[in-house]
Amino acid sequence: MIYDLAIIGGGPAGYTAAELAGKNGLKTILFEKNNLGGICLNEGCIPTKTLLYSAKVYQTAKDATKYAISCENVTFDLPKIIARKTKIVRKLTAGIRAKMNEAGVETVMGEAGVQVQGTECKVQEIACNGQIYCASKLLLCTGSETIIPPIPGLKETDFWTSREALENKGVPESLLIIGGGVIGIEFASFFNTLGTQVIVVEMLDEILPGMDKELSALLRNELTKKGIEFHLSTKVVSVDNRQIEIEKAGEKNILEVSKILLSVGRKPVLTGFGLETLNPELFRNGLKVNEYMQTSHADVYACGDITGFSLLAHTAVREAEVAVGHILGKNEKMSYKAIPGVIYTNPEIASVGKTEEVLQTENVSYTVKQLPMAYSGRFVAENEQGNGVCKILEGEDGTILGVHILGNPASEIIVIAGIAIEKGLKAEELKAMIFPHPTVGEIIKEAL
Ligand SMILES: Cc1cc2nc3c(=O)[nH]c(=O)nc-3n(C[C@H](O)[C@H](O)[C@H](O)COP(=O)(O)OP(=O)(O)OC[C@H]3O[C@@H](n4cnc5c(N)ncnc54)[C@H](O)[C@@H]3O)c2cc1C
Repeated sequence: MIYDLAIIGGGPAGYTAAELAGKNGLKTILFEKNNLGGICLNEGCIPTKTLLYSAKVYQTAKDATKYAISCENVTFDLPKIIARKTKIVRKLTAGIRAKMNEAGVETVMGEAGVQVQGTECKVQEIACNGQIYCASKLLLCTGSETIIPPIPGLKETDFWTSREALENKGVPESLLIIGGGVIGIEFASFFNTLGTQVIVVEMLDEILPGMDKELSALLRNELTKKGIEFHLSTKVVSVDNRQIEIEKAGEKNILEVSKILLSVGRKPVLTGFGLETLNPELFRNGLKVNEYMQTSHADVYACGDITGFSLLAHTAVREAEVAVGHILGKNEKMSYKAIPGVIYTNPEIASVGKTEEVLQTENVSYTVKQLPMAYSGRFVAENEQGNGVCKILEGEDGTILGVHILGNPASEIIVIAGIAIEKGLKAEELKAMIFPHPTVGEIIKEAL
């Protein structure tokens, strides 16, 4: 039998593509070597947000008096928090399995590999669990993996990556996080709330590279007030068990902690599944694709983290929609204009479109419209934390170029701005929309 579409990897890219293809009548087969749902569902987006929500509830209970509620002797139980996370992950992965069945997708659990084309099938050929499968089109969605930098002594040390941190059932007394990117800062927020002494070491001069620098600094200040220690423009030179040697501007220091969490980034998975037989073109550290998500082989598509482009689940989902759409004869192109980025700390930070830093590099003129979040009545009513800010960057012709928000629930509001940017709305057009009152989202209208 020849499948219309074979997909390697059952993460957000793979399962979205499989469901859409199956529902649209394509004979589809999906290979997954670990768990359906991929990194996002099993050890990324959902588990981290589940833990962060428990931490937020704990913090809210501790701060209950500010809402005139008394809540004494507030405690937490980390093994139960982890157990709740595992239960949620199981429920959601079962949901993905049900979706695959409903869409008529054949799911094969096992490690799949691409074979030399035409040996047996004359089309795309995939081997899994000792069987050969043939498919007219192939979609590669193998995702990404943690980067382990060659820091002397690190390999010999019992350090955590995000995977181990999510399974840990004891609260470390102190934790040094190598890398102040999204994942590192979310874990910093989580363990800080549980009472761990958290230290973040970041090589760049600000945390959260790629986000608006002013807002990142504001978030860092909020987290510093909560007791997190930051070492910016600082490099980890070596690790000797729990002793970490750091260096800033030529000056070296030793920090001693009970645990190390490594989060310096992720890289596309390009090995272990016979990619070399296809010999596709690469771009930077990922697989090169065109605007329809086709690789340099017209019948081979790639979506999600494997392209090394955005490394976000919602990007992976949209890329999968574009790829399957193209296979079905639609010619929608992938757009990266309005991909929201969110850090689910407390308070949250969310961003979409261009930052001031990018606009300056591109020599684009813009004006800044900025308001404290306290201009939102709802934000004040809920006594939300910190010195939140909403910053809107407007082009000379009034087009909205970027929106950056610090304050809860930035993750839920940012989509308003994303739609405006994707559709090329002018500030006046967005301002003319009716926002429900009172909502924190009104801050966008106020700022405009
Ligand atoms: C701690 C953490 C938190 C995150 N939080 C967020 C967040 O809040 N929001 C967000 O948007 N993104 C988040 N991400 C990123 C997000 O998880 C990824 O962008 C997303 O999972 C990418 O989806 P994907 O389908 O490309 O790959 P993956 O989810 O990595 O899935 C790839 C799948 O392919 C399978 N596979 C690989 N090779 C083979 C093979 N040869 N045969 C069979 N199967 C194979 C793997 O087992 C895996 O299940 C987070 C990541 C981490 C690590």
